Amino acid sequence: MDLDDTLINRRDAVTAWAADFSVDRHLAPAAAQALTDSLRDRALPETFEALRTTLGLAESAAELWEAYVVGLAAKVTCDSEILVRLDLLRAAGWTVGVLTNGATDIQRAKLTAAGILDHVDAVCISEEAGARKPDPKAFRTAASRCGFEPHTAAWMVGDNPVTDIGGASAAGLRTVWVSAGAAWATPGLTPDHIAPTVADAADFLLGLPENPR
Ligand SMILES: [Mg+2]
Repeated sequence: MDLDDTLINRRDAVTAWAADFSVDRHLAPAAAQALTDSLRDRALPETFEALRTTLGLAESAAELWEAYVVGLAAKVTCDSEILVRLDLLRAAGWTVGVLTNGATDIQRAKLTAAGILDHVDAVCISEEAGARKPDPKAFRTAASRCGFEPHTAAWMVGDNPVTDIGGASAAGLRTVWVSAGAAWATPGLTPDHIAPTVADAADFLLGLPENPR
């Protein structure tokens, strides 16, 4: 399972954090949007080097990153209907792992704050794993932490057509694209299944004839 915008809604959390941060620091109204834009696709400690200059912030980039890690984690939740499905999958014999691109501290803070760690068997974060999706090595590492080699009995569930679906296909996994109702629009790649939500994706997996148990 992918984390950002699959198990949790990172996009909304970033927007909410940026709004709060801007108000707390008495920044100009445009600052919240500038923060959201900079952090939308990917956030790293270095991202705050540029932002502290642009926004005239006194703290160091490291201090701002720490504020972001704590603040964003406080904004993320995982719906109970998703957590229940993770439990159902494991009860049905599936081994459930999270494979996520990002810095270890922020990804682990979000996993903890959203209560996901108690509902999965393994976690693989790109920074500590030394490989980012769509690199097949990221999928191999995640699979091995789940106790398997990647093979066609394994599935990847994620929202990103390239990193999640393309990467997993290349690594030999089957795929469920979490579409949020969008149409598939990435030529040359095809997910094995499309589900509007991660709960629907889990229900699809639970209904497969090859359910492990
Ligand atoms: Mg994602």
